[in-house]
Amino acid sequence: PYTGPRIEEILRKRSEFLSPSMFYFYKKPLNIVDGKMQYLFDEDGRRYLDAFGGIATVCCGHCHPDVIEAIINQTKRLQHSTVVYLNHAIADFAEALASKLPGDLKVVFFTNSGTEANELALMMARLYTGCHDVVSVRNAYHGNAAGTMGATAQSNWKFNIVQRCFCSDGEKYAKDVQEIIEFGTSGHVAAFISEAIQGVGGILELAPGYLPAAYKSIRKAGGLCIADEVQSGFARTGSHFWGFEAHGVVPDIVTMAKGIGNGLPIGAVVTTPEIAKVLTRRSYFNTFGGNPVCTAGGLAVLKVLEKERLQENALVVGSYLKGRLENLQEKHDIIGDVRGRGLMLGVELVTDRRSKAPAKAEILRVMDQMKEMGVLVGKGGFYGNVFRITPPLCFTKDDAGEKFLTHFCLRQTFLVDSMDLAISKL
Ligand code: PMP
Repeated sequence: PYTGPRIEEILRKRSEFLSPSMFYFYKKPLNIVDGKMQYLFDEDGRRYLDAFGGIATVCCGHCHPDVIEAIINQTKRLQHSTVVYLNHAIADFAEALASKLPGDLKVVFFTNSGTEANELALMMARLYTGCHDVVSVRNAYHGNAAGTMGATAQSNWKFNIVQRCFCSDGEKYAKDVQEIIEFGTSGHVAAFISEAIQGVGGILELAPGYLPAAYKSIRKAGGLCIADEVQSGFARTGSHFWGFEAHGVVPDIVTMAKGIGNGLPIGAVVTTPEIAKVLTRRSYFNTFGGNPVCTAGGLAVLKVLEKERLQENALVVGSYLKGRLENLQEKHDIIGDVRGRGLMLGVELVTDRRSKAPAKAEILRVMDQMKEMGVLVGKGGFYGNVFRITPPLCFTKDDAGEKFLTHFCLRQTFLVDSMDLAISKL
């Protein structure tokens, strides 16, 4: 059993020694001390079904034994920077990662986070094109450093940073990209960056046809197309390994983080040899980007995804779960929309289906109730009224709610049933 510091002590230290911008979910926050596959455990040993996976960060499952073994073995041997010496771990992982990407996307740069990956991608696009403007999609999240902040457009993102150009998503808005290029730039741009499904933005899918049209306009203006796969990558969407693949496009640069390391701090940029050349005559290095421990862990993640057929599982369980959530939508007026793909699903709560007025207070109550029932989901979206369901990819149909309410009292960890019950109690 856990004998370490408890909620009150941690809260006291946080308020005194940690950033005031830190926040937590739930009226009474959770002190999570252990994790095992799709479960998390609090300080009292209470088990929770994790349907958020640390914002899609954990893909194979918490503390997956194969990933742990790889990390431990490498840590015992060596943990170091790979800037000035050779080590096989970074090369092995780069080779395995490149094999998962289409076309000529085969040169990998490792970073420590999604923000760093996107910063590097934007810098490479600017160096390659000689242009500066970056077009991004409204409601996107790409990171919290200077460049990526400029490409992030969220309602709660009010930093005094120069914002670049934004366009709305949606098929009929694909022409916005063209208009922004024409009216908001010199006519030449460095890049377009977009998630395939917006994560923080509230599991917003891009309309079919939007990405191909946007890519065409950007390329005509000399820009590169960057796919931010930080959340939608690594088999999460089920139908494909990468989110962009569902749109029939091949980006010039792909960025990734979160799921790549199953919780380890690692990110990557993958591009073509031609674009990668922009860094040959310049010194770019990243002390811990691609360090042996994180890359050994990353390679183990790829192997687990394949061995346990987790992409297929994301498709099967995700489709089943989406169907069950759609059934809930028929039953509860408060559910305005159910969307997403695979195990990247969103449930939007509204107080009025026609005006789509966000059910902001209600979502907090439902979320708290679900936690009490032992189920953790995330939330996001422009108004913070969308449940984000992004569990570890080992999530089962049983976890989703296959056994219905008869078993509910025994296990209290079925996602759909707990949401149903929590909404009924509103
Ligand atoms: N891109 C996307 C799509 C993200 O969701 C995030 C993180 N939420 C980032 C980039 C930034 O990643 P990190 O927090 O690892 O810097």
